[in-house]
Amino acid sequence: MSRHTSLQVGGPADYLVFPRDLEELQAVLLLAQEKGIPFFVLGHGSNLLVRDEGYRGMVISLASACSRYDFMEDRVKAGAAVPLPWLAREFARRGYKGLEFAAGIPGTLGGAIFMNAGAFGSYIGELVIEVVTMDLQGCCRIRPHTELNFSYRWSNFQDEDVIILEAALALQPGNREEIERNMEDMLNERAARHPHQPSAGSVFRNPPGGAGYLIEQAGLKGMAVGGALISPQHGNFIVNTGNATATDVLSLISIARDKVREKFGIELEPEIRVIGGNGKNRGEIE
Ligand SMILES: Cc1cc2nc3c(=O)[nH]c(=O)nc-3n(C[C@H](O)[C@H](O)[C@H](O)COP(=O)(O)OP(=O)(O)OC[C@H]3O[C@@H](n4cnc5c(N)ncnc54)[C@H](O)[C@@H]3O)c2cc1C
Repeated sequence: MSRHTSLQVGGPADYLVFPRDLEELQAVLLLAQEKGIPFFVLGHGSNLLVRDEGYRGMVISLASACSRYDFMEDRVKAGAAVPLPWLAREFARRGYKGLEFAAGIPGTLGGAIFMNAGAFGSYIGELVIEVVTMDLQGCCRIRPHTELNFSYRWSNFQDEDVIILEAALALQPGNREEIERNMEDMLNERAARHPHQPSAGSVFRNPPGGAGYLIEQAGLKGMAVGGALISPQHGNFIVNTGNATATDVLSLISIARDKVREKFGIELEPEIRVIGGNGKNRGEIE
């Protein structure tokens, strides 16, 4: 899985499947149920830490089945596998505002909705009109906005066993030049603030004050375990300097949590999803 995650660590999965369409996805889900094979859906792997033991189950990529999009009068319908930065640029190019914040978030639309990805005070849930899902029996449903819940890096999908297939996002016309300028400003700010080595973005959810600040104040910036490093540039990023293992990253996570708890009495909660090992597969971390 090191080849399929932005952090570039993690052992192999038993199966990696790319259903070509929704019928094949249905068949794959039914097969997984029948054979008792655990599975999870992979977006761009930009918020994932797969353990070194790998994943004893099936990883499903929607790259082929859910990559279509359609710009309509008041909304865009886009497949879960559509890359978020591409969608943000397309909004800007067509003169629609509201998605500039997402141009630098390296995930898919499905992963962004699942995580309620956000930046600069905005988040994807604000634009979502409806989401199309498939349940484990292969049944599709349209979920209107009234059935959806979004809060900081959380969506109702984190508590449900469904696959996000597609979403409709609201289109709000704006001034194209202004939107593009706004987007470039945000991209420049990120480029200056964020490290450029492989990472999974912010490791911890931000408590008041910010996880990066607390980690810095605990004296942990620049600390390394094996090939994993708490970025000297941004305390809430753990980067892979070349030969990191998932165990190295998990050690740094554990050290950061212990030190911040000790010094400030604050419990840092991981934002990244940890997959594999111990039969755990839905993103839990102990
Ligand atoms: C350099 C960098 C910067 C980042 N900056 C930000 C930022 O500013 N703001 C922010 O919020 N995040 C940020 N992230 C984190 C990450 O990009 C987001 O969380 C993103 O939304 C994850 O999308 P993904 O497609 O990569 O999902 P993945 O990492 O592949 O998966 C994340 C979770 O979503 C689930 N999932 C994915 N697709 C589906 C689907 N179709 N149906 C059901 N479940 C699904 C997966 O099973 C997994 O549990 C950053 C990451 C990096 C590497």
